[in-house]
Parts: sequence; structure tokens; C-alpha cells
Amino acid sequence: NETAARRDNFYAASQSKFIPFKDPMVFKKGSMQYLWDVEGRKYTDLLGMNVCISVGHSHPKVVAAAMAQAQELTHCTTMFYHPVPAHFAEELAATMPNPDGDIEWVVHFTNSGSEAIDLAMTMARSYTGNLDLLALRTAYHGPTAAAQSITGISGWRHPGMPGNVAFVAEPNQYRGIFGAGVDPYLDEIERTINTATTGQIAGMFIESVQGYGGIIEMPHGYMSGAAERVRAAGGLLIADEVQAGFGRTGDHMWGFERDGVIPDIVVMAKGIGNGFPLGAVVARKHIAAPMAEKFMFHTYGANPTSCAAGRAVLQVIREDKIQENARTVGAALLERLRALKHKHEAIGDVRGRGLMLAIEMVKDRKTKEPDPQTTAAVFEACRDSGLILSKSGAFQSCLRMVPPMCLSLQDVDQVHDGLDRAFSSL
Ligand code: PMP
Repeated sequence: NETAARRDNFYAASQSKFIPFKDPMVFKKGSMQYLWDVEGRKYTDLLGMNVCISVGHSHPKVVAAAMAQAQELTHCTTMFYHPVPAHFAEELAATMPNPDGDIEWVVHFTNSGSEAIDLAMTMARSYTGNLDLLALRTAYHGPTAAAQSITGISGWRHPGMPGNVAFVAEPNQYRGIFGAGVDPYLDEIERTINTATTGQIAGMFIESVQGYGGIIEMPHGYMSGAAERVRAAGGLLIADEVQAGFGRTGDHMWGFERDGVIPDIVVMAKGIGNGFPLGAVVARKHIAAPMAEKFMFHTYGANPTSCAAGRAVLQVIREDKIQENARTVGAALLERLRALKHKHEAIGDVRGRGLMLAIEMVKDRKTKEPDPQTTAAVFEACRDSGLILSKSGAFQSCLRMVPPMCLSLQDVDQVHDGLDRAFSSL
């Protein structure tokens, strides 16, 4: 395979290690929830090309909007005014919760999730005057040095990352160190603040549903309880909605909304651009304000071509009832996955909501010992059934499903049958 050989020869090892399948897959075409490789084989993309494809591969309305903008003016650096990003900022701000209408949400555009994470860290530190940050142990927040510094799993973090970060045990209801429940995990936040920090916090980063962590949902009351404790220590609640945002959880536009909590800063990327490079920090106006005292400039931030795609994504989410589809199709898929758990002993847990689901493989349901080998075998076998999934979790024992949110009920049957075949073939 020429493409694979070329990639292997010319990509740095730092980029080429993370190849998911044993044999290289070379893709040529995508349409909505489907992908085709160079040999013309069709796949259902349950990975959503890494959760980036929110409304569908090469969605015609998103492509048309980006093409029209690229033809007129591809880039307009952010020191000048342009109507597209200005409109998009207004539209994004309007998606934020504002129950009493008194929150002024403002937007800072970046090009990726980790850039937005870095910015949120800086914003929280500038506003509070504190340095210490809290993050959950099994969260993933991105590849830049600052984003790695708040990423807990050591295999996802390289040497020499900046500090002032304390990690807190995640409220994993299946295998968390304090079992199921919320209070012990909230006590853990307080204990961490008192023992592992200066006691003065800049902020705590939380994904409302952890993505790479293996679809770990924050239980009811956790995010609001965390916000209380962190704010009491002078800090901010920062929601990383890079994976869980844009309607993916089915019940709300933003995953944190389920808990009724309103964060101080929200980080978003991936699904915002449906594949176009785009990220954003959306913050309360007074929290972003102190950063104006110093220089901060993202050359490609607010790029009109990506923002035109982003505006089209928001429009399609509304017009195609994407969030509703995530809810109903996600519920149907969850039910089928639960049926598979009854049938196949290797499945220890099935979880998630909307189109953000996972099954976790164990060697023994009682001990819950993670089973990355079975996970890898099922992952490979699913490829033969035309399904692309993703391995995730701290132990690589989860199969994550985060497809384009246009997935249909017919696809659910195919996913069920493919997984069933894969488990039966073990
Ligand atoms: N936060 C979360 C929750 C993510 O999943 C990711 C990327 N997988 C990031 C941040 C970083 O985004 P990017 O890769 O666009 O820098």
C-alpha cells in the first residue's frame, strides 16, 4: 500500500504511532455517517472521525457554506472585522444557558480544542490571580503542553509539562475508587484542594461526559457540587465540551446543562466545525476581560472559512433535528448494546447517553478486571463488518461510539449485528 508506505516513511514517529487498526486503512470518500476506503469498501463511522463529524461527513450545506466563503475570502486575520465570525460569535453565545438573561457570554475563536484549553487555563489564571488547577484523572484535554499538563493518564502525557495541577479521582460509577455515588467524589475535591494545592484555585476542568476516558458520565449533582467547592476556593468551573457538546448527549445542546450548572468558561471544538479546524472558548464577559491587559492573538482564530462551516453546522443542527436524532437513535442503540451485554459475558458495562456510548470489556464481571485484548479483538472484527469504532479508556478496554449524529435506526441494526458477530467469533 503506497500511501501507508509514504506515511510510514515521512511522518515523524510522534505522529504515526497512534494508528488504530493492524492493517492500514486508506479513506477516499465520506457521506453523512458513512466512509469509503480506496478499494470502495463502505464503513459506518462510529468514531465520527474522532468526534469531529457532528452533522455528517461532507454535509452538503456545510461544504457549500465553506466553499462559498473560501472563494470570496479564505482568510481574514482576526485583527480586522469580518461579518461571518462576528455573526457566528453571536449565534454561539446564544446557545449558552442564560436563565435570567443577565449573563453576557463572549467568544474567543481558536483552531483546535487544545488551543482553546490553553486559553481557558490562561483566562482562569488571569481572572482569579490563582495558579492551581484541578482536573480529573481519566480526562483527556489535548496535545499542547498546557493541555497535557491537565491530562491525568500518564500514557497520554509526555515529560516536562507545566505544573500547578492536582488530579482528582473521577466519579466513575462503574469502577471508581469510591464506588458509585457522588458525595465521596465531592469530598475528594475538597480533600485535594486542602492537601495538594495552595488552597487558592484558578479553576477545575470537567468534561460532562469523558470521551477518551471511556464515556464516563458525570453523575447528577457532581458538576454543580464541584462548582460550589471550586468557587469557594476562589476558582472557576471550566467545562470541556469538546466531545460532549453540540447536542451529542441528546438531551441538551451542552452536556453540562443536564446538571443545571452554568460554568464560568466553556471549551468547545471538534463538532463545532464538522471537520473544519475550529475551536472556541465561550466565557462570561467579565472573566475574559482581564486578558485584554496583555497581548493575545491567534493568527487563524476566527478564520471566516471555518466560521462559515460552523454557522452552517448550527443551522443544520436545528433544521435536521440533529439533537433529537441523537436522543432517539442513541436510546435505541443503548438498548441493543444492553441486549448484547446479556448475551456476551465479556461485556462488563454498557453506558452513555445520546450518541456518546461505550461498552467496556472485562475478564470477569465480578472483579471487573479490564480486558484490552478482547477489546482489541472485537475492534478488529468489527472492521470486517464495516464498522469503525474506537478503543478508549484508561485501560483501553472500552469501545467508544461517537458517530455523526445523523446515524439512523437501520444503522443501529447493523451495529448490533456486527458487534454480535464480533463477540461470537472470539
Ligand atoms: N478536550 C477533549 C475532551 C478532547 O477529546 C480533545 C481531543 N480529542 C481535546 C480537548 C483537544 O482537542 P484538539 O485535538 O482539537 O486539540
